[in-house]
Amino acid sequence: MMTKKLYLESIEAAYLEEFTAEVIAIEDNKIVLDQTLFYPLGGGQNWDLGSIDGPNGKMNVIEVRGRDTIHHTIEDTFELEIGDEVSGTIDFERRYAHMKMHTAQHLVSGIAYEMFDGVRTVGNQIHTEKSRIDFKPIQFTEDMLLELQSAVNDKIQLGLEVTDSQMTRDEINSIMPQERTNMDLLPSFINDLRVVTIGDKQDLCPCAGTHVRNISEIKGIEFIGKKSKGKGPQRVTYELIE
Ligand SMILES: [Zn+2]
Repeated sequence: MMTKKLYLESIEAAYLEEFTAEVIAIEDNKIVLDQTLFYPLGGGQNWDLGSIDGPNGKMNVIEVRGRDTIHHTIEDTFELEIGDEVSGTIDFERRYAHMKMHTAQHLVSGIAYEMFDGVRTVGNQIHTEKSRIDFKPIQFTEDMLLELQSAVNDKIQLGLEVTDSQMTRDEINSIMPQERTNMDLLPSFINDLRVVTIGDKQDLCPCAGTHVRNISEIKGIEFIGKKSKGKGPQRVTYELIE
Protein backbone atom coordinates (compact mmCIF):
# COMPACT_ATOMS: atom_id res chain seq x y z
CA MET A 1 0.00 0.00 0.00
CA MET A 2 1.70 3.14 -1.23
CA THR A 3 0.76 6.74 -0.61
CA LYS A 4 1.57 9.12 -3.46
CA LYS A 5 3.66 11.96 -2.02
CA LEU A 6 2.25 15.09 -3.61
CA TYR A 7 4.68 17.38 -1.72
CA LEU A 8 7.61 15.63 -3.42
CA GLU A 9 6.51 16.00 -7.04
CA SER A 10 8.52 19.20 -7.53
CA ILE A 11 10.05 22.05 -5.55
CA GLU A 12 6.88 24.05 -6.33
CA ALA A 13 4.67 21.27 -4.95
CA ALA A 14 6.03 22.03 -1.47
CA TYR A 15 4.08 25.32 -1.65
CA LEU A 16 0.68 23.65 -2.15
CA GLU A 17 -1.70 23.78 0.82
CA GLU A 18 -4.77 21.84 -0.30
CA PHE A 19 -5.44 18.49 -1.95
CA THR A 20 -8.11 15.85 -2.40
CA ALA A 21 -7.66 12.14 -1.83
CA GLU A 22 -9.38 8.84 -1.20
CA VAL A 23 -9.28 6.92 2.08
CA ILE A 24 -7.59 3.55 1.39
CA ALA A 25 -7.09 2.22 4.93
CA ILE A 26 -8.10 2.93 8.51
CA GLU A 27 -6.25 1.61 11.58
CA ASP A 28 -7.49 2.82 14.97
CA ASN A 29 -7.15 6.62 14.86
CA LYS A 30 -4.90 6.60 11.81
CA ILE A 31 -5.95 6.93 8.20
CA VAL A 32 -4.10 6.18 4.99
CA LEU A 33 -4.88 8.12 1.81
CA ASP A 34 -4.04 7.27 -1.79
CA GLN A 35 -2.14 10.58 -1.99
CA THR A 36 -1.19 13.33 0.45
CA LEU A 37 0.45 16.72 0.91
CA PHE A 38 1.14 15.93 4.58
CA TYR A 39 4.87 15.50 5.14
CA PRO A 40 5.65 12.55 7.46
CA LEU A 41 8.45 12.75 10.04
CA GLY A 42 11.65 11.89 8.21
CA GLY A 43 15.08 13.05 7.13
CA GLY A 44 15.19 15.11 10.31
CA GLN A 45 12.17 17.19 9.24
CA ASN A 46 9.15 17.26 11.53
CA TRP A 47 5.67 16.30 10.30
CA ASP A 48 3.01 18.64 8.99
CA LEU A 49 -0.12 19.52 10.91
CA GLY A 50 -3.48 20.42 9.38
CA SER A 51 -6.93 19.04 8.80
CA ILE A 52 -8.79 16.49 6.72
CA ASP A 53 -12.37 17.21 5.69
CA GLY A 54 -14.57 14.15 5.09
CA PRO A 55 -18.27 13.43 4.48
CA ASN A 56 -18.94 13.71 8.24
CA GLY A 57 -16.89 16.77 9.07
CA LYS A 58 -13.44 18.14 9.65
CA MET A 59 -10.73 16.33 11.61
CA ASN A 60 -7.43 17.61 12.95
CA VAL A 61 -4.26 15.79 11.92
CA ILE A 62 -1.88 15.70 14.88
CA GLU A 63 0.87 13.34 13.70
CA VAL A 64 2.06 12.05 10.34
CA ARG A 65 4.41 9.09 10.03
CA GLY A 66 5.44 6.49 7.51
CA ARG A 67 7.69 5.90 4.57
CA ASP A 68 5.80 4.19 1.73
CA THR A 69 2.47 4.10 3.54
CA ILE A 70 1.77 7.40 5.27
CA HIS A 71 -0.40 7.32 8.39
CA HIS A 72 -2.30 10.47 9.39
CA THR A 73 -3.20 10.38 13.09
CA ILE A 74 -6.55 12.03 13.81
CA GLU A 75 -7.03 13.90 17.10
CA ASP A 76 -10.54 12.70 17.99
CA THR A 77 -12.82 9.86 17.01
CA PHE A 78 -14.06 10.14 13.43
CA GLU A 79 -16.51 8.65 11.00
CA LEU A 80 -14.82 7.66 7.78
CA GLU A 81 -14.96 4.64 5.55
CA ILE A 82 -12.56 3.20 3.04
CA GLY A 83 -13.38 4.76 -0.31
CA ASP A 84 -14.47 8.12 1.13
CA GLU A 85 -13.32 11.19 -0.75
CA VAL A 86 -11.66 13.74 1.53
CA SER A 87 -9.95 17.08 1.15
CA GLY A 88 -6.88 17.98 3.15
CA THR A 89 -5.34 21.28 4.19
CA ILE A 90 -1.90 21.61 5.71
CA ASP A 91 -0.82 24.28 8.20
CA PHE A 92 1.30 26.21 5.72
CA GLU A 93 2.90 28.54 8.24
CA ARG A 94 4.45 25.51 9.95
CA ARG A 95 5.34 23.86 6.62
CA TYR A 96 6.96 27.03 5.27
CA ALA A 97 9.11 27.38 8.40
CA HIS A 98 10.25 23.76 7.88
CA MET A 99 11.05 24.50 4.21
CA LYS A 100 13.24 27.49 5.11
CA MET A 101 14.88 25.62 7.99
CA HIS A 102 15.58 22.56 5.82
CA THR A 103 17.14 24.47 2.91
CA ALA A 104 19.17 26.40 5.51
CA GLN A 105 20.40 23.09 6.93
CA HIS A 106 21.69 22.01 3.50
CA LEU A 107 23.52 25.35 3.16
CA VAL A 108 25.05 25.17 6.65
CA SER A 109 26.12 21.53 6.22
CA GLY A 110 27.64 22.14 2.78
CA ILE A 111 29.48 25.31 3.74
CA ALA A 112 30.74 23.78 7.01
CA TYR A 113 32.13 20.85 5.01
CA GLU A 114 34.02 23.27 2.73
CA MET A 115 35.24 25.56 5.54
CA PHE A 116 36.22 23.07 8.21
CA ASP A 117 38.21 20.29 6.60
CA GLY A 118 35.37 18.06 5.48
CA VAL A 119 33.43 18.03 8.76
CA ARG A 120 30.45 15.70 8.40
CA THR A 121 26.80 16.22 9.19
CA VAL A 122 25.74 13.18 11.20
CA GLY A 123 22.26 14.27 12.20
CA ASN A 124 19.72 17.07 11.97
CA GLN A 125 16.37 18.06 13.41
CA ILE A 126 14.20 20.54 11.52
CA HIS A 127 11.57 22.37 13.57
CA THR A 128 9.69 25.65 13.19
CA GLU A 129 11.38 27.83 15.85
CA LYS A 130 14.87 26.37 15.93
CA SER A 131 16.73 23.54 14.24
CA ARG A 132 19.81 21.50 15.10
CA ILE A 133 22.67 19.97 13.16
CA ASP A 134 25.12 17.45 14.59
CA PHE A 135 28.67 17.69 13.22
CA LYS A 136 31.61 15.36 13.58
CA PRO A 137 34.50 15.55 14.15
CA ILE A 138 34.81 19.17 15.26
CA GLN A 139 34.95 21.47 18.25
CA PHE A 140 33.46 24.78 17.14
CA THR A 141 34.73 27.93 18.83
CA GLU A 142 32.55 31.05 18.94
CA ASP A 143 34.69 32.54 16.17
CA MET A 144 34.27 29.50 13.95
CA LEU A 145 30.50 29.64 14.34
CA LEU A 146 30.44 33.36 13.56
CA GLU A 147 32.57 32.72 10.48
CA LEU A 148 30.21 29.94 9.36
CA GLN A 149 27.16 32.08 10.07
CA SER A 150 28.39 34.98 7.95
CA ALA A 151 29.40 32.67 5.10
CA VAL A 152 25.90 31.14 5.12
CA ASN A 153 24.23 34.55 5.26
CA ASP A 154 26.43 35.88 2.45
CA LYS A 155 25.38 32.89 0.34
CA ILE A 156 21.69 33.53 1.11
CA GLN A 157 22.15 37.08 -0.24
CA LEU A 158 23.11 35.60 -3.63
CA GLY A 159 19.52 34.45 -4.12
CA LEU A 160 20.38 31.09 -5.68
CA GLU A 161 17.60 28.89 -7.04
CA VAL A 162 16.80 25.51 -5.52
CA THR A 163 15.94 22.69 -7.93
CA ASP A 164 15.22 18.99 -7.69
CA SER A 165 16.00 16.08 -9.98
CA GLN A 166 16.42 12.30 -10.06
CA MET A 167 20.00 11.04 -10.16
CA THR A 168 21.81 7.77 -9.86
CA ARG A 169 24.35 7.03 -7.14
CA ASP A 170 27.20 7.34 -9.67
CA GLU A 171 25.96 10.68 -10.99
CA ILE A 172 25.77 12.12 -7.47
CA ASN A 173 29.19 10.79 -6.53
CA SER A 174 30.74 12.26 -9.68
CA ILE A 175 29.61 15.76 -8.60
CA MET A 176 30.04 15.75 -4.80
CA PRO A 177 32.33 13.85 -2.41
CA GLN A 178 30.45 10.95 -0.77
CA GLU A 179 31.42 12.23 2.68
CA ARG A 180 29.67 15.52 1.98
CA THR A 181 26.40 14.00 0.74
CA ASN A 182 26.54 11.01 3.13
CA MET A 183 26.12 8.79 0.06
CA ASP A 184 28.62 6.35 1.59
CA LEU A 185 26.09 5.67 4.39
CA LEU A 186 23.25 4.87 2.00
CA PRO A 187 22.24 1.21 1.64
CA SER A 188 23.78 -0.18 -1.55
CA PHE A 189 20.44 -1.34 -3.02
CA ILE A 190 19.28 2.27 -3.39
CA ASN A 191 20.39 3.60 -6.74
CA ASP A 192 17.94 6.29 -7.86
CA LEU A 193 17.53 9.29 -5.64
CA ARG A 194 15.76 12.59 -5.52
CA VAL A 195 18.44 15.23 -5.33
CA VAL A 196 18.05 18.81 -4.13
CA THR A 197 20.50 21.24 -5.75
CA ILE A 198 21.27 24.81 -4.73
CA GLY A 199 22.45 27.12 -7.51
CA ASP A 200 24.64 25.64 -10.23
CA LYS A 201 25.69 22.58 -8.18
CA GLN A 202 27.00 24.81 -5.37
CA ASP A 203 25.31 22.33 -3.09
CA LEU A 204 23.76 19.02 -3.97
CA CYS A 205 22.28 16.48 -1.60
CA PRO A 206 19.95 13.49 -1.83
CA CYS A 207 16.86 14.50 0.14
CA ALA A 208 13.13 13.79 0.29
CA GLY A 209 12.32 16.91 2.31
CA THR A 210 10.48 20.09 1.36
CA HIS A 211 12.52 23.12 0.31
CA VAL A 212 12.13 26.76 -0.71
CA ARG A 213 12.46 27.62 -4.41
CA ASN A 214 15.12 30.28 -3.80
CA ILE A 215 17.51 30.57 -0.86
CA SER A 216 16.71 34.31 -0.56
CA GLU A 217 13.44 33.21 1.10
CA ILE A 218 15.45 32.06 4.14
CA LYS A 219 16.55 35.70 4.71
CA GLY A 220 19.24 34.67 7.20
CA ILE A 221 20.23 32.37 10.05
CA GLU A 222 21.69 32.88 13.50
CA PHE A 223 23.45 30.27 15.61
CA ILE A 224 22.02 30.36 19.11
CA GLY A 225 23.89 27.54 20.80
CA LYS A 226 26.37 24.71 20.65
CA LYS A 227 26.72 21.64 22.76
CA SER A 228 29.05 18.68 22.65
CA LYS A 229 28.68 15.29 24.20
CA GLY A 230 32.16 14.14 25.15
CA LYS A 231 33.99 12.97 22.06
CA GLY A 232 30.69 12.60 20.22
CA PRO A 233 29.20 14.98 17.68
CA GLN A 234 28.90 18.68 18.27
CA ARG A 235 25.36 19.97 18.05
CA VAL A 236 24.71 23.50 16.82
CA THR A 237 21.31 25.17 17.05
CA TYR A 238 20.12 27.90 14.71
CA GLU A 239 17.07 30.02 14.15
CA LEU A 240 15.87 32.09 11.22
CA ILE A 241 16.25 35.84 11.26
CA GLU A 242 13.79 38.17 9.61
ZN1 LIG B 1 17.58 17.39 3.33
